Order: sequence, then C-alpha cells, then structure tokens
Amino acid sequence: MLEVEFSASFFTERESKMILKLKQKASHLIKNGAVLLVENDVLNVAQIKEGAVATLIDGKNQQFIGKAVIGFQNKGIGWVFTTNEREDFNQDFVEKRISSAIDNRLKSHIMQETNAFRLFNGESDGLGGLTIDWYHDAIVLSWYSKGMYQHRKLIVSALMNALKTVNLSVSAISEKFRFKGSDIESDWIVLPEDGNDYREIVENGVKYATYLNDGLMTGIFLDQRDVRKYIKLNCAGQTVLNTFSYTGAFSVAAAVGNARETISVDVANRSLDKTKENFLLNAVALDNHKIYVMDVFDYFKFAAKKKMAFDWVILDPPSFARTKKRTFSVLKDYGDLLSDAIAVTAKNGRIVVSTNASNFSIDAVKKMIEKTCHANGKSFTIEKVFTQSADFTTHHHQPESQYLKVFIVRLT
Ligand code: SAH
Repeated sequence: MLEVEFSASFFTERESKMILKLKQKASHLIKNGAVLLVENDVLNVAQIKEGAVATLIDGKNQQFIGKAVIGFQNKGIGWVFTTNEREDFNQDFVEKRISSAIDNRLKSHIMQETNAFRLFNGESDGLGGLTIDWYHDAIVLSWYSKGMYQHRKLIVSALMNALKTVNLSVSAISEKFRFKGSDIESDWIVLPEDGNDYREIVENGVKYATYLNDGLMTGIFLDQRDVRKYIKLNCAGQTVLNTFSYTGAFSVAAAVGNARETISVDVANRSLDKTKENFLLNAVALDNHKIYVMDVFDYFKFAAKKKMAFDWVILDPPSFARTKKRTFSVLKDYGDLLSDAIAVTAKNGRIVVSTNASNFSIDAVKKMIEKTCHANGKSFTIEKVFTQSADFTTHHHQPESQYLKVFIVRLT
C-alpha cells in the first residue's frame, strides 16, 4: 500500500473543546438516542465553532448529555457520537466504530451479490458526516462537512488501522468533498499504483464502469442495488423506458435481464458515452437499446404523440433540477411527471417511482401516487416498495436516514 498523502488541507489539528448548553427538549431527545444537533437545540449559540468536539450539557441542570463533532450540513450543525462521558473522539474510538461497521458488512452476504457497497454509513454507523464505500479493491470516502474534514488525519489513520484489523487490502482511496465552500470535488488520499481510477463493478451478474476520481459521482448509485436486481429479474421480453438515466444502470440491468428493448433518456451529454460504455462492458449490442440526450419532459411529449406504450417506465429524478426550459422539484412536480409516465405505460405495465429526497416522506409519496393515478383514471396496485439496500444502514432515531423510496406501481 502506498503512503497516505496529506497534501490538500486547510485543516489544523488543534484540539478545540467547547461546552454547548442544550435546551431541555434537545437534552431529552439526545438522551433517548437522537444524534442530530441543530442550532435551535443550543442556548449559547455564540460558542458554536465548526470542527470543534463539543461536550453537551443540559442548560438547566448542567447534567452531562453527550459529545458531538460540530460540522455544518444542510441538516444541522453536528452529530452526537456518544452519550458516554468516558468516550472521546480519538483515533482509537473512530477505529472501533469503523471496524465494527466493516465487520458487519463482511459478515453479511453482500459480497455474494456485489463487489461495491457501503462500508460505513455516517450516523447510522456511529459517526455522522462521513461515509465510506468499497469499490472492487478501492475505497471512496465522503466528507459531508468542513468540520468533519478538519479531523481528516485522525479519521484516515483510524480507517487504515481498521482495514488492517478486518484484513481488507486496499489499492487506492479517493475522497469526495460534499460540503459547501470546497473548491475541489474529488482527490486521492492513497493514489492507485497505476494512477488509474477505473474500477469494474460486478453486481448480481451485471457489470458497471465506475471512475473513482471524477467529480462527486462514480457512475453508479450503490443504494439502488435491490431495484436494479428486481428490474433485471422481472423484465424479460419487455420494453423499458428509463428516464433520468445517468449512466444507464437500470437499462443495462434490464438488458442483461433480457428486456426486449430499452430507451435511456438523460439531458446530460456525458450520459451517452457512459451508457454506451456500460452496454459494451456487458457485451450487449445497441440495436435494441437507444440512448437519447434530451429533456425527459420533451421525450414524454414525443412518446405520447407516437402513442408508445412501455412495459416499464422508470422515474428517478434528482430532488431538484434546473434546465434551460424549466425547474423541477420532486415535492411540487412529481405528480406531473408521473402523469406523463402513465400516458406511455402499457396495460399491466409498471412504473418505478423513485426519490431520494429526505423531505418527501414515504406516506407523502404514496399519497402522490394514489392521487395522480386517480386523476388519470387508472387503477393500480403497489407491487413492491424498496428503500436503500441494507448496507446503507438507517438510524432508528433519525427517520430521514431512510431517505430512498422506490415504489413499483403496476397499472391494472
Ligand atoms: N437513475 C440513475 C440516476 C439518476 S441521477 C441511476 O440509477 O443511475 C439524475 C439524472 O437526471 C442526472 O444524470 C441528470 O443529468 C438527469 N436530469 C436532470 N434533469 C433532467 C431532465 N429534465 N431531463 C433529463 N434528464 C435530467
């Protein structure tokens, strides 16, 4: 293994300790297992400093409540990592949390399904603001706040030790900067020996091309694994329209599952080559698999005019998107998108209604589906509901950690 580089950094290793006084309600919630700290929980807000390890006490009775790393995310101002006064945020502690999370993954059957999965999932594995993914023989680590990133040296050393403990040999480690104010998106912590960031993923018999040091995204969304598998197993002989297709992962899974025809639609130029690459990797000829770089709403108009009727229509839009023509927000516009999909879905066809917006609850998505189907005069059944795959663990006190909702809606 190559040496760890600590080049890009504005981080300082100063031990800044601080005491934050909490409102009673927050003390109560944290005592009961909540781990997200928001500014409104704190009485002495002037003390809040990004990157600090804070001791949390109750503002009224001064009782010890917990300890948190302060890091600003859109969700809040930091994550509680312990309610045990004797535990500290040090290398040994972080190493234990990481190795226990990795151990859990390795004990599960996940490696029989795939060579790419989540090893450590932030707060759900005991440390918010940080995720660690496995890609074939390499690691992708994501920083979700500058505060967490300030502890880079400690965390990377802890990760290195944890990898030794669990006996995983790693060829490279890349890091993603997912917080505001970072001028780079991706860098290497451990350079691969050949400098190459390409990794071939094999998941349930389907291959996917990924690039570990090319912006924030790698080419695959690992949390949709169960959905790809479901589509692959249930689409033989059928036609599939995959909208917001990105690198065509759903289309390729369908093609390997013997779909008769797939159409992938994405507005980003990169999607054409990336999708072709994935088909090629699986030795699937493109004759029955079309890729269009265009706005999905324009494609829906075209398909409706041509009276097309697909057996599968996949909807996996970003939570918010702005193109030259329009803005799209899942909360406001998903119903319209679903109406467009219904218009081009065959009788007995399925629509995959997916969203990863944590502010769009599973109940609200279900209501939106019911309302839209009724408005279009369609009867339907909900054939199946997926959430993120199990390696993307959830936190029982933080419902928003179960962010992915995927309904398989069958028109009857
Ligand atoms: N379903 C994909 C991930 C989708 S990511 C997968 O499972 O791999 C969201 C994609 O939507 C991006 O690739 C983005 O380019 C695309 N996108 C956003 N707005 C769009 C629009 N109006 N029309 C077509 N594609 C759009």
